[in-house]
Amino acid sequence: QDHSIDAADLAALAGRTLAVIGFGNQGAAQAANLRDSGHTPVVGNRDDEYATAASEEGFDLRSIAAAAEAADIALLLVPDEVQPDLVRSEVAPGLRAGDTLVVASGYNWHFGLLDVPDGVDVVMVAPRMIGAAVRDRYVDRHGFPCFVSVERDATGRAWETTLAVARAIGGTLGGAIVSSAREEAALDLFSEQAVWPAILDVVRTAHRVAIEAGFSEEAVLNELYLSAEPAEVFAHVARDGLFGQLGLHSRTSQYGQLRSLTALDEQGELASRFARVMHDDILSGEFAREWSRPEAGERLEALHREVAASPIAAAEAQVRARLGD
Ligand code: NDP
Repeated sequence: QDHSIDAADLAALAGRTLAVIGFGNQGAAQAANLRDSGHTPVVGNRDDEYATAASEEGFDLRSIAAAAEAADIALLLVPDEVQPDLVRSEVAPGLRAGDTLVVASGYNWHFGLLDVPDGVDVVMVAPRMIGAAVRDRYVDRHGFPCFVSVERDATGRAWETTLAVARAIGGTLGGAIVSSAREEAALDLFSEQAVWPAILDVVRTAHRVAIEAGFSEEAVLNELYLSAEPAEVFAHVARDGLFGQLGLHSRTSQYGQLRSLTALDEQGELASRFARVMHDDILSGEFAREWSRPEAGERLEALHREVAASPIAAAEAQVRARLGD
């Protein structure tokens, strides 16, 4: 973490019109923070309840195209999957050389899905925090981790703009982290495609083995996750450390956990699988190509149906019904 950039100068925003495109989770929070930092943005949103909220909160609400047109600095805060089309049709036509497009995630830019006119700076200011907390932690001055990068420096002043935007949304209060769209996108996808599937598979496999050993669904599912104990453990991992939190468990638990962990092969099948996901699926662009195909949405629905029909999902529904959840 580079805390020195907390001194980032807001002067880079002076005389430039900021526009928040999309008044959703991040958009509403970042717009409020920008206003409290003295740089009230115009807001671009489709005409619906988010737009009403922006008006009610006193923002200068415009169509997305009009907000992009007005912007010297446009913060693109609509969902990642709508960005490529929206940028092409409504945002890019309003951007001129010397303007800045700010993205809050690296995916679309890194995988070449955003057509941004020449001469426009492209930078990333990506809070690692949900929108509501981006607002709360600005108000209470706690801050939040925030990845920043310059992706295209057409003006030679893109870093000043990046740091000033990061500061104005509260992203330097906790120390911004210099990163890149590639790193931000790859690490996000890696968590999603390697880490979490492995964790879900651990739970699914543990359920199967424990049921085959003759234990009851109620007991097994409560032990595994319905009790919310894993959430407690992960909260302590963040606070006390991956191994530091072991002190909160009984000595029997500590001995059992550590003798099993150290017996696992760190270079084994899991490591090869994770490396394949990182290199063959993510960094190669293969996943991004697959997810951009029109039929990908249907496949997602089919995958949801497949896991909903699995034994652990059926057992969970029954146990919840019995417990009156
Ligand atoms: P939201 O889903 O909250 O954004 C919704 C906004 O986008 C609304 O203003 C919505 O307007 C608008 N929108 C949705 N679909 C369309 C469309 N087809 N055309 C025009 N406008 C549309 O998004 P987030 O705030 O979650 O994400 C915004 C960006 O921030 C993304 O790049 C995301 O990766 C990034 N980010 C998100 C984080 C989070 O915790 N949520 C954390 C860090 C980064 P409408 O009223 O018209 O639906």
